[in-house]
Amino acid sequence: MKICVVGTGYVGLVSAVCFSEIGHEVVGVDKDKEKIEKLKKGVTPIFEKYLEPLLKKNLKNKKLSFTTALKEGLKNSLLVFNAVGTPPGEQRKVDLRYVWEVAKEVGENLDHYIVFVNKSTVPVGTTEKVEKIIRKNLKKKINFDVASNPEFLREGSAIKDFLQPNRIVIGVKSKRAEKILRKVYEPITKRGYPLIVTDIKNAEMIKYVSNAFLATKLSFINEIANLCEKVGVDIKEVVKGVELDERMGKGYFNPGPGFGGSCLPKDIDGLIHIALDYGIKLKVLDAVRDVNEFQRKIAVLKLKKYLPELFGKKIAVWGLSFKANTDDVRESPAIEVIKKLLEEGAKVKCYDPLAMENAKKVLINQKVEFCKDKMEALYGADALILMTEWEEFKKVKPQEIKKYTKIVIDTRNIWDKEKFKKVGLIYEGMGR
Ligand code: NAD
Repeated sequence: MKICVVGTGYVGLVSAVCFSEIGHEVVGVDKDKEKIEKLKKGVTPIFEKYLEPLLKKNLKNKKLSFTTALKEGLKNSLLVFNAVGTPPGEQRKVDLRYVWEVAKEVGENLDHYIVFVNKSTVPVGTTEKVEKIIRKNLKKKINFDVASNPEFLREGSAIKDFLQPNRIVIGVKSKRAEKILRKVYEPITKRGYPLIVTDIKNAEMIKYVSNAFLATKLSFINEIANLCEKVGVDIKEVVKGVELDERMGKGYFNPGPGFGGSCLPKDIDGLIHIALDYGIKLKVLDAVRDVNEFQRKIAVLKLKKYLPELFGKKIAVWGLSFKANTDDVRESPAIEVIKKLLEEGAKVKCYDPLAMENAKKVLINQKVEFCKDKMEALYGADALILMTEWEEFKKVKPQEIKKYTKIVIDTRNIWDKEKFKKVGLIYEGMGR
């Protein structure tokens, strides 16, 4: 099938590459010229395991191409997947301007039947509005369908998540669209991965509820971890004992420095606003957000237990991305911690295996020292704050850290507390 994917960010690029990998002919469209030039050369603007080799392979076998012209992407395409960003806008309400832009442009250029599929995370009712916008902008009477197909991939394991998903959700209102979408995903579903078909609004809601629940689990365990610390209980032992109950669900149950990234914070804010539009206050999600705001400050609060005056102190920060295996620093707790340290007059030296370039862009004009490796960042530091759970950091021995600093704040519980204490380091984990 010929597919057009509009927006070649994390979701759009991974989708375009994976659709071509499972046999479709795909055109990726983005208005960012620089991005498209890179992609045409087989260079990925983001880091994601397996992405670049698959991009190169499918460019070479002509299953995949890129353009900045939506009109070109639309040519002969049966499906248009919309994967543009839906960032937080004013008061952190979902900003849908890019979705509306794409819908208008599709309408203006459409000359044959398509299924327009929203892959972006959008509030309930958006796909219905998209249908109206496309129809309003048509130059002649053309039949088309709209559908919702929210994306659940996680950065860091996006290719695997796309090709081996827990589930594919499709929201449709016509049998024709359902048949086409089932066919698109057939190479995946015939390997046993489940696909559920529902109506469009249900599909839109499934995505928000999924992210809201993951965020709830994280804030819950962060709050419990803080309690464990006070009552002298080890959260790691608690989680081990609780998680074996299959009703709890796997994962998203380890305490950390607060959740970040481009999805969870914006999607819970989005859902809170969607509910408010209907006169409903989502009290649980309000609490999830409050707990997370507090949690994102916890690394600095812990540090101040040992260094009450941060002015002039040198602090090493290991990890800048919002989680391991990605270079994405959007809403990363590490960035917030660095800003707070700078505000307090500390000198920050930082290192991340992949996210340095992106971090430099968001910390522009800030007095931060970006180091070429982790040990350079640690040299002469009064304390180390571990912010991201990279494998590279997990392997570091406490004796090596002891050579350069005395205080360690491990916001991901990646190290063995006893081993750190044994060599004479002050060690602070989360909930331990
Ligand atoms: P992104 O910011 O990485 O990419 C969006 C892309 O859309 C950009 O390259 C931008 O240039 C392009 N774009 C914007 N307007 C355009 C237009 N009119 N025409 C062509 N291109 C246009 O965003 P993302 O992280 O891929 O997220 C996209 C959507 O997927 C969001 O709704 C997000 O919530 C959702 N989502 C993201 C993830 C994730 O892990 N990043 C996971 C699941 C769902």
